[in-house]
Amino acid sequence: MQISTPNSSREVLLEREIAREFPDTKGRYGLFGGAYVPETLVPALDRLSAGIARWLHDVDFIAELNDQLATWVGRPTPLTYAPSLSRLWGAEVYLKREDLAHTGAHKINNAIGQVLLAKRLGAKRIVAETGAGQHGVASAAACSRLGLPCTVYMGAIDCERQAPNVGRMKLLGATVVPVTGGDQTLRAAIDEALRDWVADPTDTYYLLGSAVGPHPYPYLARELQSVIGRETRAQVIKQTGGLPDAVFACVGGGSNSIGMFYPFIADTDVKLIGVEAGGRGNALGDHSATLSLGTPGVLQGCYSMLLQDANGQIQETHSVSAGLDYPGVGPEHAFLQSVGRVTYEAVTDDDALKALSECCKAEGIIAAIETAHAFCGASRWAKTNPGSRIVICLSGRGDKDMPTLQKTLLKGML
Ligand SMILES: *Cc1c(COP(=O)(O)O)cnc(C)c1O
Repeated sequence: MQISTPNSSREVLLEREIAREFPDTKGRYGLFGGAYVPETLVPALDRLSAGIARWLHDVDFIAELNDQLATWVGRPTPLTYAPSLSRLWGAEVYLKREDLAHTGAHKINNAIGQVLLAKRLGAKRIVAETGAGQHGVASAAACSRLGLPCTVYMGAIDCERQAPNVGRMKLLGATVVPVTGGDQTLRAAIDEALRDWVADPTDTYYLLGSAVGPHPYPYLARELQSVIGRETRAQVIKQTGGLPDAVFACVGGGSNSIGMFYPFIADTDVKLIGVEAGGRGNALGDHSATLSLGTPGVLQGCYSMLLQDANGQIQETHSVSAGLDYPGVGPEHAFLQSVGRVTYEAVTDDDALKALSECCKAEGIIAAIETAHAFCGASRWAKTNPGSRIVICLSGRGDKDMPTLQKTLLKGML
């Protein structure tokens, strides 16, 4: 069920989005967003909002951020023409190479930006949560780079499933705290990180890893990840002389996708398509396709689409890719879906793995399994829109996925 918005107000809302009026002063994107949090969190969030207003668009802050992005992260990342995929799909395919960013994915853009902000706010330590471990690694790396101690909360089950990332975080100097309460995965880790932050919101900064959570986090992640879409827009115009027909990105919490889409929002001829994890089927519990199959509600401080049962209980999710395995999604995506500016669709585990394999053989790139969902969505679209120019956000590299790939694609091949 999607929220149905009358056509006239959809147009008005889209115009406001194009005019960059969202989030509004209450942290809302149309109906979605906001900050549904306990009283104890309000001062910490207010302090963060004030810090963002003071620093995020400050000339010196931007210069320092751009220097870190250029000399440490490795930006701008290339926009790579994909000749073999183009031939196979009957399209003109370009890949935005976030896999080439330091630590192997887009998450570092958000992490380095927030740690820089934390320093301006006078924080003495950083806390972060992590599910699969990728945001934990990016946070640990950014903290070492900028000289702040880092504590990463990680569900005890995830610590076991993602042991190599626990090792990476430790090598990078972070303290990893396994969370044994709750569901022992990402949701419990977020709750624990919030508890730590609230205990001392002045000296501690909470570094949230995606475009989710209470306002101002979804806004902060969008601003820091929009570097992806800004670079892409300039590169595609320079390399092809025009805008693409369609842009694809995978959607977990929604940070690489909002970063890619946002600078194209006003280009209303450019189709924007977000691809979610369809898992092993459409039954609740078998997928993580929050926008395609979810319903509106509040999760972790924010009104958005989510996966819940008829009583509002959050449901277990499934995806072959750990980074997409989350029952919520950023509120701006729920908004963009409700006004019809972005289309969201789901791709199953098996189809994503096939697309991953195709990209390896065609272009010599092992993409993350998350990213492979976007490849599959793009290949389907290309087949019904022959000759179109397509950009895909290659959100990260697949080296981290070798254990899963060994149990799936490589089974029987070794
Ligand atoms: C974490 C991750 C994602 C999903 O997170 P978003 O916030 O939706 O971008 C996608 N791709 C890769 C490679 C990731 O590591």
